[in-house]
Amino acid sequence: MANQCPYCGNPLAKTPGRKTKCPHCGGFIYVRTRPSDRKSVLATKEQADAIEAEWRMVTDSQYRMTPEKVDQIKKESQAMIQRNLLSYLDAGVIHVKILGTPDSCENCKAKNGQKIRIDLILNKPIEEVTGCMNPFCRCDYLAVLKDKEPAGDAPDAF
Ligand SMILES: [Zn+2]
Ligand SMILES: [Zn+2]
Repeated sequence: MANQCPYCGNPLAKTPGRKTKCPHCGGFIYVRTRPSDRKSVLATKEQADAIEAEWRMVTDSQYRMTPEKVDQIKKESQAMIQRNLLSYLDAGVIHVKILGTPDSCENCKAKNGQKIRIDLILNKPIEEVTGCMNPFCRCDYLAVLKDKEPAGDAPDAF
């Protein structure tokens, strides 16, 4: 994730983990994960709304996406998660943390911040790991980097 304000383009000292105010221009920076490629991006309010709309198309059947299309996005999304996990392993990362969203289901919220070994979740759909009750689990995995981890950002389960 680029450490750049999406409004003014100025560099940020630290990658925001959640909504933050840009110290340069005062714009509110949102952190959002896109459904199709599972990429976390820093977004303006407008971009964040657009990503939320993308999510609604996947998670909410009333937005007229066919079940086949939802399945396809789900598959792509899972494949992307697996690729990310493999690249973490390649980089020597052992654990990931479950990263929920404010509108995650109760199971996912309960698992938010939990640290798990990557080798235990390889090839498992993320909704199986989280026990997600929604049609589309919005959780993501965050690599736990030794020593680089910002203290007190998310609670550790163990
Ligand atoms: Zn800015
Ligand atoms: Zn869930």
